[in-house]
Amino acid sequence: MKLITIAIDGHSSCGKSTMAKDLAKEIGYIYIDTGAMYRSVTLFALRNGLITEAGIDEESLRQSMADIMITFCLNEETGRPDTYLNGVCVEKEIRTMEVSKWVSPIATLGFVREAMVDMQRLMGEAKGVIMDGRDIGTVVFPDAELKVFVTASADVRAQRRYDELMAKGEACSLDEIRANIIERDRIDSTRAISPLRKADDAIVLDNSDMTIPEQKAWLLEQYHRAAGED
Ligand code: C5P
Repeated sequence: MKLITIAIDGHSSCGKSTMAKDLAKEIGYIYIDTGAMYRSVTLFALRNGLITEAGIDEESLRQSMADIMITFCLNEETGRPDTYLNGVCVEKEIRTMEVSKWVSPIATLGFVREAMVDMQRLMGEAKGVIMDGRDIGTVVFPDAELKVFVTASADVRAQRRYDELMAKGEACSLDEIRANIIERDRIDSTRAISPLRKADDAIVLDNSDMTIPEQKAWLLEQYHRAAGED
């Protein structure tokens, strides 16, 4: 089968990364979690005092972009890639509510998006890659052979995220999570640069009532169809 590019976009917390990781493992593709990249920039900004009560210090962040190096490294234990910020694993730190609260405002900044998109295009230039995010099928790889747009009801998404955080032993509130995903979707869909939207040629998947194995089987079928086409 030919090597293709797979773009998985969609709303917050609808299981894009689980589907993408599972498929990557199954077919031996590289998986890139682009949300983790925006989260890493946000973590960097928080740690360096570039986000305060007054908001984001955009000018200092712009000047710091060259100091932010994001890489992924396969975790042998989980079989999934972990995110590294300047050589240090930050997989856990980028998933906190504090980062979730600031990531969408950070992701509206043009200079942040430019830097991330450049990195993503480099990471995916050899094909054989599955990337999940918000603008992969529309901006990063508009020629991707397979584009999927994933969505699910806000209640289902909030409950899934809540269960995930609880399983990791992180204290959280369902209401706070639900408000956060709705607010992130609002900011992501209405921003001026690369807003979240379905690419015209993307296939929509509403997974509100699907199990993880069902989603996995569905995506594998889409992959075989797209990679088998001439
Ligand atoms: O995928 P995840 O929910 O971890 O992404 C966190 C945030 O990063 C999103 O809410 C969005 O603001 C931003 N993002 C983006 N473009 C992408 C991936 C994520 O703007 N390609």
